[in-house]
Amino acid sequence: MFNLTPPRREQARLSSGRAVRHHAGVATSTTNPRRAIPSVERLLRAAAGAALAARYRREHVVETTRMVLDDLRRAATDGARVPADAEILERVRLRLEGGSTPRLMRVINATGVVLHTNLGRAPLAEEAIAALTAAARGAVNLELDLESGRRGDRDALLAEDLRALTGAEASLVVNNNAAAVLLLLDTLARDREVVVSRGELIEIGGAFRMPDIMAGSGARLHEVGTTNRTHAEDYRRAIGPDTALLLKVHTSNFRIVGFTASVELAELVAMGRAAGVPVAEDLGSGALVDLAAWGLPREPVVSERIAAGADVVTFSGDKLLGGPQAGVIVGRRNLVARLASNPLRRALRPDKLTMAALGATLRLYRESPDLGAALPTLRLLTRSVAEMEAVGRAAAPLVATRLGAGYRVEVVAADGEVGSGAVPDVPLPSRALAIDHPEVPAERIAARFRAARPPVIGRVREGRFLLDLRAVFDPHELAVELG
Ligand SMILES: *Cc1c(COP(=O)(O)O)cnc(C)c1O
Repeated sequence: MFNLTPPRREQARLSSGRAVRHHAGVATSTTNPRRAIPSVERLLRAAAGAALAARYRREHVVETTRMVLDDLRRAATDGARVPADAEILERVRLRLEGGSTPRLMRVINATGVVLHTNLGRAPLAEEAIAALTAAARGAVNLELDLESGRRGDRDALLAEDLRALTGAEASLVVNNNAAAVLLLLDTLARDREVVVSRGELIEIGGAFRMPDIMAGSGARLHEVGTTNRTHAEDYRRAIGPDTALLLKVHTSNFRIVGFTASVELAELVAMGRAAGVPVAEDLGSGALVDLAAWGLPREPVVSERIAAGADVVTFSGDKLLGGPQAGVIVGRRNLVARLASNPLRRALRPDKLTMAALGATLRLYRESPDLGAALPTLRLLTRSVAEMEAVGRAAAPLVATRLGAGYRVEVVAADGEVGSGAVPDVPLPSRALAIDHPEVPAERIAARFRAARPPVIGRVREGRFLLDLRAVFDPHELAVELG
């Protein structure tokens, strides 16, 4: 056992040392208010101070008390009265409490973007939350083969589910899709060439730029075609003795429209086969099921890309898949085995929490009779406008009361988004609360909601503040206390 508070005798010695000086301060406080500032020791000896030192680490209380006293000293210089000890201690308590709320906290996503990268992307299914909580609590067979008792392989845990769901021979999981692409290029194309269409050299939020990832992996980028048009002939001419890989990248977050041409995966696969060069695809979101079955816009499905002959496909765990942050690599056994034995893999491997949550999410895909209800991401994407409208009608008067006089709150039609680069040009019809005030700018209203606890995150559109209802189920969630 460790005891973080100093022994009692030492505390007593520390505190008695300055008591005399402090009394002197009180005596002359009428002439110099700064001298009325009590010592840390005296404050912590008071009952309220001792209670704080019992609740928090003593050093932390001392440091916080010093900060409060510094503020008082500055204010006293400007002529402010020094408050009584009890009031000072109350300020210390509030500061300790304020400081101890975690910096990472739950927020209400009223942005209308379901998979919002800044808000942590996919909400997890209850099954995934339970699995990761159980794994967090203690030991798990992360790398232990329970049958033989020998060292196991963490990727074996998900291999069967990923094989069933994607049709690929083998799989590997890393920390995110950017890491998956890095590992792919580093393993298969270091010091060699990767042929990519200029129309697919994308930048995704958070400075994930395809050319930079290539440079980081030591692969040489061989760009072909133009921004809007790339033909099979462009690839064919580019393939040479130094070609290590043909790479297709899903242009997640933008669309090129108009006079365009790109080469289908199947055609790329045929060229790769003829030249003896593997073909990989970075699918970005990577849906495991066809979203069209739920009336949503189509995104490429991983199993279809494997069936079309892609040798390796990479995708994110926390985008359309609806799981934890992860990068999933599926493909041919021999290629995936090469990726798995790259030393870089050790630096990119996911922990037990990711494996637990991803495993439980994949199970839902295989087992759940109603995936649309079991997977929160899908539930949010398929939410009916009528349901959002009802939440909006119930929330509007509550929010108006919180805002105070002069604010107008109404339910309006709004456009939501899937987010994280999936189907960027297809709006999701949604409902939102639109808030405005003749004198208060929308940005100011947004700031009031951000300052609430939990913070409510909306967006400003055409001078109004919008709270999108797609991810709001309980109207009271929006009725936060506003400062
Ligand atoms: C989102 C995305 C990535 C990066 O995936 P992370 O899981 O965020 O690392 C890479 N490529 C494409 C095409 C993407 O859409």
